[in-house]
Amino acid sequence: MSAIIERLPEALANQIAAGEVVQRPASVLKELIENSIDAGATEIQVHLRDSGKTLIQVIDNGQGMGPEDARLCFERHATSKIRSLDDLFALRSYGFRGEALAATAAVAQVELRTRRSADELGTLVRIEGGQIRQQEPAPSSVGTSIQVKNLFFNVPARRNFLKSDETELRNLIDTFQHMALARPDLQFRLSHQGTDLYLTRPGNLKQRITSFFGESMANGMVPVEETTPILSISGFIGKPNIARKSRGHQYFFLNGRYIRHPYLHHAVATGYHELLPEGSQPAYLIFLTVDPKRVDVNVHPAKTEVKFDDEKTHYAILMSAVRRALNQYQVAPALDFSMEPGLSWASGGGEHMHPSGARPGSVAGSNNSLGSGLTPGAGPGMGSWAGPGAGTGAGTGAGTGAGNGNLRSPFNPAYNPFDADRRSPGPVDDSWRKLMEVKLPPQNQEQDFSDIGKNGWAEGAPSEAGLFQLHQRYIVGTLRSGLLVVDQEAAHYRILFDRCRARLTTGTGASQQCIFPTTLQLRADEALALGRLEPILRSAGFDWTAGDNPLDIRITGLPADIDLPEPELLLHDMLRDEYPSTGDALASIREQLSRVMAKKSHIRAGKTLSPSQMRQLVDELFACENPYYSPEGRPVLLTITIPEIMQRLGGPV
Ligand code: ADP
Ligand code: MG
Repeated sequence: MSAIIERLPEALANQIAAGEVVQRPASVLKELIENSIDAGATEIQVHLRDSGKTLIQVIDNGQGMGPEDARLCFERHATSKIRSLDDLFALRSYGFRGEALAATAAVAQVELRTRRSADELGTLVRIEGGQIRQQEPAPSSVGTSIQVKNLFFNVPARRNFLKSDETELRNLIDTFQHMALARPDLQFRLSHQGTDLYLTRPGNLKQRITSFFGESMANGMVPVEETTPILSISGFIGKPNIARKSRGHQYFFLNGRYIRHPYLHHAVATGYHELLPEGSQPAYLIFLTVDPKRVDVNVHPAKTEVKFDDEKTHYAILMSAVRRALNQYQVAPALDFSMEPGLSWASGGGEHMHPSGARPGSVAGSNNSLGSGLTPGAGPGMGSWAGPGAGTGAGTGAGTGAGNGNLRSPFNPAYNPFDADRRSPGPVDDSWRKLMEVKLPPQNQEQDFSDIGKNGWAEGAPSEAGLFQLHQRYIVGTLRSGLLVVDQEAAHYRILFDRCRARLTTGTGASQQCIFPTTLQLRADEALALGRLEPILRSAGFDWTAGDNPLDIRITGLPADIDLPEPELLLHDMLRDEYPSTGDALASIREQLSRVMAKKSHIRAGKTLSPSQMRQLVDELFACENPYYSPEGRPVLLTITIPEIMQRLGGPV
């Protein structure tokens, strides 16, 4: 009998390998931009169609390729970047596996045009599903243009696995921003459906932060800097007042490469210590530079995970650097580094691009000469790893950049959800009697609430005096059968959740007009999501009109009886959430929105409640269909019965 083992055809092997490297449009984009940077490009353009599903094109002005390399680059394990194992441990380029182009070409239709400056004519290569279809000399500008069309055209299973357009676009924009933040010395441009989303000129890190996240974000950060023999740190961290509830802008770059690192994230958070309100997330962009020998980026092809030795030491250094930066800020709160000499923030270094061009001077005010402390891309094929030298603040202005443009103050500790005018209309007075009707949820057998149901509050109607607050966290009341303990936070969350969901379902959410409409700048992916969620958001009471620019909206109305502390941020969060596109999508979108809205505004533990507030909270809670559990299934209340008490205390003396 002949052998049954056969070598897989090259194209099939590539297709299988592609699963590792090419998961989604964003992973292709990452590889292409990395190649451009490795090729010494100073200008990189990205053009997308249909969230990258039909086209991802990257054009660079890097060193280009000769005719032979233009074909070789699509072969597996073909790389110009390492020659030996030693090179791997002295890695100064993004790429080294020689896998990305082969993998991409295996699952897409790829067109490459490239020319080296020394050559008169460039090369055109067309490759489809791993098969070269065409190669010929062709006119081309110096550098490389790669078009990746119809990703996964030959792997329907993978194509179907892709997420909604807005999710894929969001991943693409995130990837683009990671790369552009890693190299503020290079020019980056991003367009989608022929519309420019970003054009950001070479500059320093702070300018790039401004151009992506706005001036108030840039002004809300302080520099962090530390040099030790094993680890150097530079970058910016957010002042505590720009911390947000949701994880927003948290970026680590290790030797110029965007990475995720939960352990080091913890170090940063610990560095903030008690400066952050509970549950808040600091913003940071931190560049770590270590000897390449001491890191292993070879952990996963996507390479956002890295391992490096002696993580504990790194942890300690990072934490103390963060602490020191914050102390410095506290000692000198007036530090305002928007005053860096020679910089004009008003004209910024390439802002959020507005296709209508209605923002004069948005990209005009920057040039290469702005003091950036950067080493521009070194020679061809060797991106510089010097990392952006974070411009340190020299100014003494007093601005602290507290989220300007906010409709209301970003955080209002005096906020009282029980203000008379915020009370939800409707009969709540006797709603506690609903206790009688409520059926226990099946998962709750160990607690016997039926007793509350039978007897109601001790001695008839609950009096305000019968309730007291324990540790500003629990509301305790007496039942005929024992004690009732209500978690105030969970209770209010349940109430608001039900209220939000009811408005979203009936579509009758009243809207409260904003006296001062605010403008919200959306990213392209958020604009797509807004279109999809529009009916639901409007039915919740959100109101908006088109802004001056295609990606701007003016918020003119907000849900009337829910106090949303930071409505713009909330909208941003909601637009970035992941929503199912199949099944009962509408219902789960409603659930999710209700959750987000309720989470933003419910009262917290630690808040003192007056007797009437406690009473109202308990009444409203028992008016809910299921007062016993939070929407996530966490218990809201518990009862302690007299028999239980007797059992613990040992019965009659
Ligand atoms: P790697 O980057 O790991 O070497 P790739 O498959 O991404 O592997 O690329 C293979 C080779 O193709 C690279 O080593 C490089 O020589 C060449 N190459 C790819 N993209 C470009 C580009 N934009 N400009 C010049 N050369 C490129
Ligand atoms: Mg590469």
